[in-house]
This record gives sequence, structure tokens and C-alpha cells, in this order.
Amino acid sequence: MASSAGPEIERLIALLAKLPGLGPRSARRAALMLLKRREQLLGPLAQALAEAAAKVTTCATCGALDTTDPCAICADPRRDGALLCVVEEVGALWAMERASAFRGRYHVLGGLLSALDGVGPDALRIAALAARASDEAVREVILALPATVDGQTTSHYLADRLASAGVAVTMLARGVPVGGELDWLDDGTIAQAMRARRPA
Ligand SMILES: [Zn+2]
Repeated sequence: MASSAGPEIERLIALLAKLPGLGPRSARRAALMLLKRREQLLGPLAQALAEAAAKVTTCATCGALDTTDPCAICADPRRDGALLCVVEEVGALWAMERASAFRGRYHVLGGLLSALDGVGPDALRIAALAARASDEAVREVILALPATVDGQTTSHYLADRLASAGVAVTMLARGVPVGGELDWLDDGTIAQAMRARRPA
């Protein structure tokens, strides 16, 4: 594509286009919006980006992102250290926190096992998980991984790997989503929900 703006602006557009959900066209629109609203938007955004780049770090214990290491969740004495929730990425941790349904601690794997993409156990934070799970304070490891082929493969691998750690290993239930109409669900979800039924 022929460049129509100066090199600084083209560089801004090229970087924005690397963000998830933004293609070249929407990156161009976003850049234009930022440049039009330099004081309200571009300045504060640049400052927030610089602060995040300088301060945000990965928690060496759980793999979450925070400005402190250990992160606020690992350091919070009110969180239940007996419960360890395993998630694929930090985004899933944030989703769990938004739901306010879990008061234990987390372990971020950093991906899923994938034969197709050549991701093996050593590429993920699995050895660190096994070490944490064998800590006598941990009672239950909850596998909160995606309901995909790679997610299930990873869950089964982890259940095997943790079998000797002396902890209960559980998985999130699969089934009918809140507000879900049965005739809109796919066959796999209905079959899972039937298998996972419980006393009413
Ligand atoms: Zn942490």
C-alpha cells in the first residue's frame, strides 16, 4: 500500500495494525482519531503505555501481570492458598476475577499443549505448576482451560501429571450457558450438559 502520511504516522499505523482486532484499515482510523485528539487521547495513551512498559511485570509465582512480584493476588492473605485455578492466559484470569466466583490463587500456563503447533510440556509453565501442587498447603487444583481439543488434551495431561501430587484435580463444568436457549446450542454442548447433570 502506498504511504500517504509521513513516516512517523505510518509507523504509528503499522504498530496499531499489530493489535488484535485491528487490521490496516481500522489501524488507520484509530491513528487518525488519536492524532486529531492529541491532548485528550494521544498524550494520556502515550503516558499510560510508557508507564505500563516501565512498571508491569510477570509474577514469578503464578504468571499473572501486575506492577508487583509477587502479584496482588499471590500476596493477598485473604485468598485461599488451598485452591489453585489453572488458566491458559492472563485474559482468562481476568475473566475469572470479573466473575468474582473464585477466592483462591491462580496458575497461568502461558498456552496449551498442541501437537499441531509443536507446543510440548516444556514450553508451558507445567513444571512450576507440579511444584506448586505438591506444596502441602494446596488441596485442590481446578483446571479452567478452554473447551477445545487442545484445552482438553492439556487438561488430561495435567490430571495425569498431578495424580501423584496428592491433590484433588477438578475441571470446570461444561453445559448450558446462563441465559442460553437449548435450541440454539450445538450438539456437543447439549451432550456435555446432559452428562454433567446434577440433582435439582
Ligand atoms: Zn501471582
